[in-house]
Amino acid sequence: MTVKKSLQTLLAHSDYAAPEGFDAFPVAIHHASTVVFKDVAAMRSRAWLSKSAYTYGLHGTPTSFTLEARLAEIEGASHCLLAPSGLAAIALVNLGLLNSGDDVLLPDNVYGPNRDMAQWLSEGHGISVRLYDPMIGAGIGALIQPNTRLLWAEAPGSVSMEVPDLPALCAAAHARNVLVALDNTWSAGLVLRAFDLGVDIIMQALTKYQSGGSDVLMGALLTRDDNVARQLSLTHMRLGMGVGMDDVYMVLRGLPSMPLRFRAHEQGAQMVATWLKARPEISKVLHPAFEDCPGHAFWKRDFTGAAGLFSVIFDARFSQAQVDLFVDSLTLFKIGFSWGGSNSLCVPYQMSGMRANWTEAGLLVRFNIGLEDPHDLIADIAQAMARGGIVAG
Ligand SMILES: *Cc1c(COP(=O)(O)O)cnc(C)c1O
Repeated sequence: MTVKKSLQTLLAHSDYAAPEGFDAFPVAIHHASTVVFKDVAAMRSRAWLSKSAYTYGLHGTPTSFTLEARLAEIEGASHCLLAPSGLAAIALVNLGLLNSGDDVLLPDNVYGPNRDMAQWLSEGHGISVRLYDPMIGAGIGALIQPNTRLLWAEAPGSVSMEVPDLPALCAAAHARNVLVALDNTWSAGLVLRAFDLGVDIIMQALTKYQSGGSDVLMGALLTRDDNVARQLSLTHMRLGMGVGMDDVYMVLRGLPSMPLRFRAHEQGAQMVATWLKARPEISKVLHPAFEDCPGHAFWKRDFTGAAGLFSVIFDARFSQAQVDLFVDSLTLFKIGFSWGGSNSLCVPYQMSGMRANWTEAGLLVRFNIGLEDPHDLIADIAQAMARGGIVAG
């Protein structure tokens, strides 16, 4: 006997099922907090850690599992975790792998908020934090203590763009049982085989090239190490670092065009940086493919390409007011943080406040080359130099 259900119930338990056999290119967006089990036995037998089945929205749906798998393919990883931002992914590494009493080493040029987080861990959580010269190479071995657990690296460093000797850092770290985490955002995993150089954990800010749209925040951690993956997964769950499936979809949508966009950013940046290098107003081009850049030889050895983000040092005769007016006078380059989208960006940095041993006399400006025609970008820089009074006399 069937009892007729009320509309209120039917709206939550509809009998309608869409026809089978639908097929299309986009990955479906599966939203879920609750995941429904067939029966109690299924509920009891599912282990969220293995990712072989679904248990709760926090641990993923087919949409996020698909993004994780594609990111793992790019880097050659066996495990991937998504986090709500690049910075959240960095926090997962720090909170997942460091305990009170441990020591962590960070390059002096590391992404600023990572450094700030380390400071916070050292002030309130009993973790010792030390900064190292990003060009130290094998010399890092002398800094490693018995309680050192983790070494961060970034290739190239944020803003100042030094390229570290990654194989030397990894070899010295591994000789003393220290894990190496690399912020690999600049290469997007496309032009650096970081695991092959010895890196244990790769962090990506998907906010940048993977999304490509300047419209979503997300981060990822990748590893080939089962124990590290387990530890990071447990921390991911304990911190409740879920990601929204609409955001996951936005990143999935960006991935197929990422290698093509990356090459366009690379070529545009190469053209603009080459033009800047020839200008007497610019004393250095801090782009890993240029000889001015510390670690250029390591870039040549370890990378197969370059991203669209680089910095320059203006000649020391130009004042902060002149350089600021130059940046304000740009029309195609907008002023803003982050990078990796279609739009070119420009930020003047005050390095003496950011770095203890900064010795450059001239002022630093960072460019993100978008997908505009590089000829137009060069014309924009030339007119802004003239308006800022930045013209060699
Ligand atoms: C942007 C960025 C991050 C942080 O990513 P968010 O998604 O903005 O939190 C980390 N490292 C580097 C090198 C970055 O450029």
